[in-house]
Amino acid sequence: MATNLLDWLRQSFSGQNDCEKCLELLELIMDGEASPEEEKLFHKHIDACLPCYETYNLEASIKKLLQTKLKRKQVPDDLIQKIRSKIRSTA
Ligand SMILES: [Zn+2]
Repeated sequence: MATNLLDWLRQSFSGQNDCEKCLELLELIMDGEASPEEEKLFHKHIDACLPCYETYNLEASIKKLLQTKLKRKQVPDDLIQKIRSKIRSTA
């Protein structure tokens, strides 16, 4: 845990642009539009960057939830926001 925190601190000082790129890649990956090379870069970044890793987990669990339990329903944006804030508050 201490090592992760250290990596996170390093990233937060030096990796600002990496994180922006990473979050762009996250959207592509969630849409299934990222190339294998982009996915590789993305996973390399989240291995060292805790905020991006948590964002990825959050988006992945929302996507999973939407794909399984709510498959045939329209999901309102405010419900997604509620799920997001709930996951964030318990993380
Ligand atoms: Zn990052």
